[in-house]
Amino acid sequence: MTEELLVVKNLKKYYPITGGILGGEVGVVKAVDDVSFTVKRGETLGLVGESGCGKSTTGRSLLRLIEPTAGEVLFDGVNVTALSADEMRKMRRHMQIVFQDPFASLNPRHNIEKILEEPLIVHGIGTSAERKRKVQEMLEVVGLSSYHARRYPHQFSGGQRQRIGIARALMLNPKLIVADEPVSALDVSIQSQVLNLMQDLQRDLGLTYLFIAHDLSVVRHISDRVGVMYLGRIVELTTSTQLYSNPLHPYTKALLSAVPTPDPDAVRERVILQGDVPSPANPPSGCTFHTRCPHATEECRAVRPAFQDVGDGHFVACHLYKP
Ligand code: SF4
Repeated sequence: MTEELLVVKNLKKYYPITGGILGGEVGVVKAVDDVSFTVKRGETLGLVGESGCGKSTTGRSLLRLIEPTAGEVLFDGVNVTALSADEMRKMRRHMQIVFQDPFASLNPRHNIEKILEEPLIVHGIGTSAERKRKVQEMLEVVGLSSYHARRYPHQFSGGQRQRIGIARALMLNPKLIVADEPVSALDVSIQSQVLNLMQDLQRDLGLTYLFIAHDLSVVRHISDRVGVMYLGRIVELTTSTQLYSNPLHPYTKALLSAVPTPDPDAVRERVILQGDVPSPANPPSGCTFHTRCPHATEECRAVRPAFQDVGDGHFVACHLYKP
């Protein structure tokens, strides 16, 4: 058994742009462009970046909820990109997702028992009595009560609904959970309760998380390592401690400089990024961050920097750093 549960190699997701009189392909949007990373068993890898940077598309592509354009995804040694639809359906038992908006992802016409039972029915697991027992157990695992099984999604608060979303993801005893902005829609006071629950579940059930979020303080709270995405690519990846204490990529530095610090005496240089995120349909040449980077040079405009380890597993894609 390898240390890595998930290995993502050169993942790409391109969307064609059609137009013209004949409606042919006139370009592509490179939503995910050559993304590679690994996640160890029992680890939490955070993926952060601004809206539209490709982090959610990465999560969905590796689960094949949307089909990747190219690349390889090895899950527990199996190349999931090569599986047939039926094989992939069986594999999903081990790779589940928790969505950002629990209300939109729970069928409003079904009670919680039916919602939680459904994955077991789809995979042909257990008798009716066993499935109902598992629902009761799972409600307690996520901090709800067995009487909640008879209620409907609209009868719960946002935090409770996300607990139900987590319970549904856990019904099949998965190894990996892709958590796609799981607390972004919740009040700040509720966010930490759900994050603490996820950490407890990880410890008790040996789960591995890919945790996707735009909020750096949320990602820091839960992640062992963090990857920072910009325009469909990972530009920096290292341990959570390193990223927050010694960020290297100018984009990471700018993102971190905007995060409020609890220490009123802490002095932090605020980096204000110029301009908007360029369109992924027409990304800048060379380093795609060069249009907003205060350190951009001619080399940056012409040559795409390699994503390389500059020491101790700290990966960065920037010409300012050499291994
Ligand atoms: Fe800035 Fe150049 Fe580094 Fe890109 S490669 S982040 S433009 S210094």
